[in-house]
Amino acid sequence: MFSRIILFSGMLAATAAFTAGCGGSAGSKGEKAVVAGFYPLAFAAEQIAVAGTAVRNLTPAGAEPHDLELTPADVRAVDDAALVLYLGEGFMPGLETAVEQRDNRSLDLLAGEDLNGGKDEDGEVVLDPHVWLDPNRYAAMVRAIGVELGQTEAAVRLAGKLERLDAEFRRGLATCKRRQIVTSHAAFGYLAARYGLEQVPLEGLSPEAEPSARGIADLADLVKTSGVTTVFFETLVSPKLAETVAREAGVETAVLNPLEGLTDDEISSGEDYFSVMRSNLAALQKALGCRT
Ligand SMILES: [Zn+2]
Repeated sequence: MFSRIILFSGMLAATAAFTAGCGGSAGSKGEKAVVAGFYPLAFAAEQIAVAGTAVRNLTPAGAEPHDLELTPADVRAVDDAALVLYLGEGFMPGLETAVEQRDNRSLDLLAGEDLNGGKDEDGEVVLDPHVWLDPNRYAAMVRAIGVELGQTEAAVRLAGKLERLDAEFRRGLATCKRRQIVTSHAAFGYLAARYGLEQVPLEGLSPEAEPSARGIADLADLVKTSGVTTVFFETLVSPKLAETVAREAGVETAVLNPLEGLTDDEISSGEDYFSVMRSNLAALQKALGCRT
């Protein structure tokens, strides 16, 4: 475990420039977009920005953002953006490089965050980027985006909704028969820490790893001996590993969504950060035998 602190640099000074730069051309054809690396940042910007602001999510629906490769059109969008919202620390290295090669405005939402260490798919120690799955920490990101967009009141309203969601999680997970959650990749470390759960991930901080047959047997043994009832899988990556481990251990599977992106189906049925997090809470309560 290690952590680092970096202050948001130049954020306040930049706010005035953004507000002034957008004011004259709002809604006009030449208006520049806010470009976001992946869903939670795009959702926050859409909720906070002045109505009519174009927000472009670089991660396509149904894709997961870890190590996303940018298309030439994405790179042009980054070049032309009024503001780029992203997570650094190697979460999306292609986007980090594109951001470094330009001098217009960007905000790394992991800068200044106290981050835990963990292992990536090659066993290297890397920082855990999944802060948005803790509603409190996501609220802090929302407030930072609000400052950057010159929309602090809208950001405070959204952060308030997140604080209510946090209260629902705290109440909902207060009294449970079990506290261990077996997840697909290690996306739920901050959520688990916030609500006193223990994450047992089948994969590392990034979802690409393919464990060996021996690895699967070990994982199944771990599930069997720990007394958990459920192996969680995700909507954006193959459920095969979770299904294999659950079958060998004789337990159920269920979705626990790390909100790295929405699928087309989720978008068309009106799902968003809040609805998915409430589904996650219900799934956790069922798997952990919580008093509701
Ligand atoms: Zn992830």
